[in-house]
Amino acid sequence: MCGIIGYIGKSEAAPILLEGLRRLEYRGYDSAGLAILNGTLSVRKCKGRIANLTDLIGREPIHGDVGISHTRWATHGGVTDENAHPHFDESGKLALVHNGVIENYQTLKEQLLSEGHHFKSQTDTEVLAHLIGKHFEALGGEASGPRLVEAVRAALKEVTGTYGIAVMHEAVPETLVGARRGSPLVLGIGKGENFLASDVSAIVGHAREAVYLRDYDVVTLGRDDFEITTLDGGVSGFKVSKVEFSEDDVNKGAFPHFMLKEIFEQPESLQNAIRGRLSVEESTAKLGGLNMTPQQLRDIERIVLTGCGTACHAAMVGEYVIETLAHVPTEVEFASEFRYRNMPMNKDTVVFAISQSGETADTLAALRESQRKGHRTLGICNNVASTIARESDGGVYMHAGPEIGVAATKSFTSQVAVLTLLGLLLGRIRHLSTSDGIRIMEEMKAIPEKVREILKQNDRIKEIAHKYAYAKAMMFLGRQFNYPVAMEGALKMKEISYLHAEGHPSAELKHGVIALISPEVPSVFIAPDDSVYDKNISNIEEVKARKGPVIAIGTEGSSKLEKVADDVIYIPRCPDYLSPLLTVIPLQLFAYHLAVKLGCDVDKPRNLAKSVTVE
Ligand code: GLU
Repeated sequence: MCGIIGYIGKSEAAPILLEGLRRLEYRGYDSAGLAILNGTLSVRKCKGRIANLTDLIGREPIHGDVGISHTRWATHGGVTDENAHPHFDESGKLALVHNGVIENYQTLKEQLLSEGHHFKSQTDTEVLAHLIGKHFEALGGEASGPRLVEAVRAALKEVTGTYGIAVMHEAVPETLVGARRGSPLVLGIGKGENFLASDVSAIVGHAREAVYLRDYDVVTLGRDDFEITTLDGGVSGFKVSKVEFSEDDVNKGAFPHFMLKEIFEQPESLQNAIRGRLSVEESTAKLGGLNMTPQQLRDIERIVLTGCGTACHAAMVGEYVIETLAHVPTEVEFASEFRYRNMPMNKDTVVFAISQSGETADTLAALRESQRKGHRTLGICNNVASTIARESDGGVYMHAGPEIGVAATKSFTSQVAVLTLLGLLLGRIRHLSTSDGIRIMEEMKAIPEKVREILKQNDRIKEIAHKYAYAKAMMFLGRQFNYPVAMEGALKMKEISYLHAEGHPSAELKHGVIALISPEVPSVFIAPDDSVYDKNISNIEEVKARKGPVIAIGTEGSSKLEKVADDVIYIPRCPDYLSPLLTVIPLQLFAYHLAVKLGCDVDKPRNLAKSVTVE
């Protein structure tokens, strides 16, 4: 969940680590710290944002060319300076940063306490630091890189839980050690310098090549070399990949927030999701990464889509779209439920695990559970080298580029686009004709331009958002394809403005939710000109009759809405099954502008972190 960056090279470590932490801040931001080696280890850590740590280092600089650093999303122990990482072993000479949870830390801590260890924090991480230090002492002999790696291996064999770690020792100044299980870790390769990072964005601009480590890999870094082994000391096969992103991708550019930048990137990210995947000759989608023959695709009897948060809402849209285009029964299950639920699935059920980061712990666990049961399990991810991408039997990449804003925006539309391609592919194998296929493809190709049209209304949407900033709570309502969009609109509002918001099917209103309607509780209706347009209009009337203000998202040229809603935001006309790709855009902008108006930190909302790698 948190961010890790480690450096060994010839430059000053502190500025590189601080810049990397700043880029990783979206992963967790309740405290931050770093340790740098220059003869002895110096540490600076404090609670709060990276800016606090930068100020601290400004006041108390530290120099040296080897270091490790961390931005924390607390799991064990409150948000305090003492609990911030790095943590040290008993000798004070070994420093560790850790991402994840050491589940058996209590037992280990009791053992270490009985052996005379002293702890300064309440974290699970400090226990691991002590354990590695204990093994380092016990191994004896000359202080060396191999001895440090051996101590790391021995300690990790004793822990249960998840970790991505970076370790350094005062007596071994030429070596950094990293290891992972369940939490992502990347080795960045530079010239005369090497890096460790929990996310490649931290080292973009420094390292041109990277190795995405696998679970149970242990990596030893020197300035000019590295070695990757397994937890048992065996050789680990690895692949060196090019770092594809540029510094522009991981910076905000002219935008005040990553979230706004990413909302505005959607014409391109959608284009990238469909580029090369629509075959004119065959009038269908091409998804080679699924690794399935047309016969195997035809044999699919049921689809389960699983994910968390926004990915789950995208899956819900996918359910409507796949069932409409392909008539394949499709079901959505929260990954956190799927993994423990033991749902009955026949042998021709295919499972899709959907996760932007490809590291979401619950989704990964759902994928593994589904594979254990013998189901073909496919991934829909953005992060190409992620664990879900590697472990699935095939899948589709979103190609959305890095998403740094904690509130997911472009990943939602890319996931929906990929699921629509899947619906088209499965539909064409079943009952859709060539001309149906061509029509759907043409409509899909037109979507990025239509998104661009909606984005031109940004200023107007901002005005509307400001007008409703007085709200005590907000309802988001939609039907059919746009019911999941209502859920997503409410989630965006909750995540970044902390306003109470609920998403429901419009018709459910009268079965209870309507009790909440009042002049202080506006409703946002997603009511494009589709098969349920008139039904939505009736629901809007019901809200108006109870003095609830209404903002409506409608289709250009559908004049009825103006008469019933207080404010209307229009989207270009498109088929029902593609409308979520358009209707969600004004909701993202609406939530964004309202949150900014309320003074919220939209890129780093309280209590949240991007890429939830804990259960
Ligand atoms: N469990 C550790 C802690 O609470 C690490 C949390 C994180 O991944 O940031 O400090």
